[in-house]
Amino acid sequence: MAKVVTLAHYYTTPEIQQMADKVGDSLELSLFARDAEADIIVFAGVRFMAETAKILNPNATVVLPDRGSTCSLVEQTDVTALKAWRESYPDHVHVSYINSSAEHKALSDWIVTSRNVDDIIAHLYAEGKKVIFSPDRNMGAYLNFQYGYDMPLWSAVCEVHDKFNQKALDEGFASVGDLPHYLIAHPESPLPVLQQADYVGSTSGMLNWVKAFDKAPESVIFVATEDGILYNMKLARPDLDIRQAPIYAGCQCNQCPYMKLNTIEAVKRAQQGQGVVIDYLTPEQIEAARVPIDRMLAFSERQYALNVAVKQPEAVPA
Ligand code: SF4
Repeated sequence: MAKVVTLAHYYTTPEIQQMADKVGDSLELSLFARDAEADIIVFAGVRFMAETAKILNPNATVVLPDRGSTCSLVEQTDVTALKAWRESYPDHVHVSYINSSAEHKALSDWIVTSRNVDDIIAHLYAEGKKVIFSPDRNMGAYLNFQYGYDMPLWSAVCEVHDKFNQKALDEGFASVGDLPHYLIAHPESPLPVLQQADYVGSTSGMLNWVKAFDKAPESVIFVATEDGILYNMKLARPDLDIRQAPIYAGCQCNQCPYMKLNTIEAVKRAQQGQGVVIDYLTPEQIEAARVPIDRMLAFSERQYALNVAVKQPEAVPA
């Protein structure tokens, strides 16, 4: 019988996370996919994540539950234009966020996730390298601001995080009156939002920040990222008042429409091998995209002593 491993990103719904063998951020899931001893990897996330799993574990059959699970950072990046942009900086290192297609990754020297992007770019600057960054303009602008870099940036945004804005935040903060309040934010958010944040980091980083929260218990914590992670935060710290950062952009939901296509029915079908099988990448594409991913994984395993190479599926809290 085929061994099936199901992976779910923090941005999927609680029901989907409960169906998974491993829940995590992009870095954790990439490592888990690489080392999974599975015939079939069901990736309840979006297409670039399933492609990354296939690149790292080419012998496994990788299935994406729904064809529509894309990402605006991928959709806004024309790879032919990206190639010309990259070639216009021949003496720069091209660092790409993992939210990119396999073709995009193959045009990159390093892949980064929101967890390791600060450290990898600091490492490159320390070596005297010049860097260009793609595709997330908000993340790049934050890095340039925070560390005084001068990286040329590709211009795509996450349509979910890009909705966070100063005005809505000010109203949200005012709504809690005299209660102490904090803002934690994902670096895909716009710079004015990140400049106000008490913590900027990956989904796992934000989750760890909440777990370790030791300020006044009546504090309100606003979270500027996709709302799926609030499930994990409230599970970890039911004693805290944790709220979505407001957006007031027509609807009040900070949901990724592509992640939410991972319905229970779609994931069950994928576990039977039905869905989008990632079988269209050529061996050459896999090889070319794997080089910058492997650089990142080797750096991260050294830097953070990460070991999520779990062979047996992990239970997810109910
Ligand atoms: S939340 Fe944004 S960056 Fe993440 S998959 Fe959705 S559109 Fe892409």
